[in-house]
Amino acid sequence: MRQPGKAGRHVKALADQYARATIRKRAAVVDRMMIWLLAAEWLGMMVTAFIVSPRVWNGDQSGVHPHVWAAILAGPLFILPAIAIALLNPARQATRHVLAVAQMVVSILLIDVTGGRIETHFHIFGSIAILAFYMDWRVLATATAVTGIDHLTRGLLWPQSVYGVLTASPWRSAEHVWWVTFEDFFLLLAARQSMRDLKAAALGNARLYWGASHDVLTGLANRRLLQERFDAWVDSRPGAASAILYVDLDRFKQANDVLGHAVGDRLLALVASRFRAFAGPGVTLARVGGDEFVFFRTEIGSPDDAKAMGQKVLDSLAPPFNIDGHEVLLSASVGIGLYPEHGTTLRTLQDNADRAMFAAKSRGRNHCEMFSPIMLQRHGTVQEIARDLSLAMSRREFHLVYQPLVRGLDGQLNDCEALLRWHHPVHGNIPPSEFIPLAEESGMVVSLGDWVLTQACLACASWQRPGYPAVAVSVNVSAEQFDQSGYAEKILRILDDTGLSPSLLILELTEGILARDIPRTRAQLARIRDAGIRVALDDFGVGYSSLSYLAELPADRIKLDRTFLNRELLRSTAIIESVVQLAHRLGMQVVAEGIETNEQRERLLALGCDVFQGYYFSRPIPAAEVSALLIRTQPESSVAGELEALNEAIVTASDAEVSQITSPEPELVA
Ligand code: C2E
Ligand code: MG
Ligand code: MG
Repeated sequence: MRQPGKAGRHVKALADQYARATIRKRAAVVDRMMIWLLAAEWLGMMVTAFIVSPRVWNGDQSGVHPHVWAAILAGPLFILPAIAIALLNPARQATRHVLAVAQMVVSILLIDVTGGRIETHFHIFGSIAILAFYMDWRVLATATAVTGIDHLTRGLLWPQSVYGVLTASPWRSAEHVWWVTFEDFFLLLAARQSMRDLKAAALGNARLYWGASHDVLTGLANRRLLQERFDAWVDSRPGAASAILYVDLDRFKQANDVLGHAVGDRLLALVASRFRAFAGPGVTLARVGGDEFVFFRTEIGSPDDAKAMGQKVLDSLAPPFNIDGHEVLLSASVGIGLYPEHGTTLRTLQDNADRAMFAAKSRGRNHCEMFSPIMLQRHGTVQEIARDLSLAMSRREFHLVYQPLVRGLDGQLNDCEALLRWHHPVHGNIPPSEFIPLAEESGMVVSLGDWVLTQACLACASWQRPGYPAVAVSVNVSAEQFDQSGYAEKILRILDDTGLSPSLLILELTEGILARDIPRTRAQLARIRDAGIRVALDDFGVGYSSLSYLAELPADRIKLDRTFLNRELLRSTAIIESVVQLAHRLGMQVVAEGIETNEQRERLLALGCDVFQGYYFSRPIPAAEVSALLIRTQPESSVAGELEALNEAIVTASDAEVSQITSPEPELVA
């Protein structure tokens, strides 16, 4: 496995670390071996000196021979100090050299200590070979230098002390040094090869470890390494505060489907490098799932530190990504779990941070939430909600509300978007962002969607009055609905049953649905549009580049997602301008969603948006309220005043009154 760029550098650094550790371990073993060797040699020297020359006779005087004294004194003079140094400083560079010097001095003195009676040069060769175990050319150089200096000086001045009684010529010194150098040459070659093998093995190990502990796509840590780091940190600093940030990219799956997996992979790698850029030391950054990342931040001063980091995650994704000329917009939802308050094992912390991340998603994505125990309770209810969802239809717990869409130029009501509401008997109002995904998963969204379409068509038919401009209805459609074969025919049947003209129905589809299987989608869209039904691209510009699909897929309007309003002004302005330009050129209408202030309305009007939707004009209201609004408004005049009055009524009314204003009317029956 070859790791690219930065990862390659990490592997190399890791391999160096492994190699150094192996060399140190080996040096410690060789040090111990040298200690035993020197001790044995000292003993051996004394015994040999005693056997070879026990006494001296000088006339009638007799005493211990100086060789014996020399052998005994070698211990305290240099053998024992060298052993002491080695015991106190194992595996150090300097220790190796001290031991090498001691060993060579023993070797070169041996012949002298035995009175030149024993040929001990083999001992010198042997010693150098033993020192080669260190695989360190510097140790061999030290050993050679000691031998060379000794032989060249003593060999010239006192040849007998070096070569004993056998010596004849002073050139013996040079010859001897040459043999030592000759031996060194081969030992060095062997040491170099061993070192290469050791480094290759270290690199292999480093690669294995890297592969097993990192995510190959992004080079970030994987779950295993995250766990290792977490455990190591908890062991070393029990009780100190840290934080887990669980990051999930919003609607990444759609981006992946639309752009293809190869681009999706590159996008993930780019996201990882943005995260890495601000993570800094003390943070382990891991990829733990397809589009899920975890920041493990140690040493946090207060929960605010973790929140600040969460904000950095969101900020880092704000600028668009550029891949092959596609501008891709991404956001993320972040959940935070604190150690030790929210869990003391990585598992619980991560689970709780995950729950907080879900809470961030249901706040409309692109948010950061800190875990709180209430979420635990809420998470437990998700399964209960999924169960109840199947009963909700028969229990008549669903109703629709309608949010007006107002034309920019004359302020006239253009259409209303039908938005589904579920009033759960125990949990109260559950937002569609929470139950639609559950309904999609269970497949129930198909029958639910049929019900929505029928109700919306009935409501829209009831709004039309002769002499007044027509008001259309927009209905959201899930992928599961759109994928049914014969869906277009089913819509036409519902239109027929409810008596609504196809020209008054707008279907809202997200790009993710449209771009999954382009040829099939085109055919399905063609059938729908041929019948006179209009199609809108909803949540446009979220999660992936959209411009390239505008030209390819036939649609009548696009709805700019409201996250555009929160993005950096300069960039979003440039993007909106180009989207509007292209859409107009293709004959599409542009809707600005989520308008909450007059400034936003003015800005988007100036940028060329045609239709506006948002709390600034009106919150979603019951169908009957839409009828009442139309009755109060003169034909062809702006609804702005009426909507303002309605908003005013909602703002100033008591809670009970608001629920009256926005409560569902009795279900319309086909
Ligand atoms: P959407 O189709 O993009 O609908 C717009 C959402 O933005 C609605 O949320 C609306 O209440 C909200 N909104 C409108 N103006 C503003 C504003 O000024 N500020 C803010 N912050 N929000 C604003 P809602 O009703 O919660 O619906 C959420 C999503 O649920 C919808 O997003 C749509 O994707 C889905 N949905 C709703 N009803 C249905 C349905 O009947 N079928 C399907 N398949 N999906 C639905
Ligand atoms: Mg919509
Ligand atoms: Mg939308």
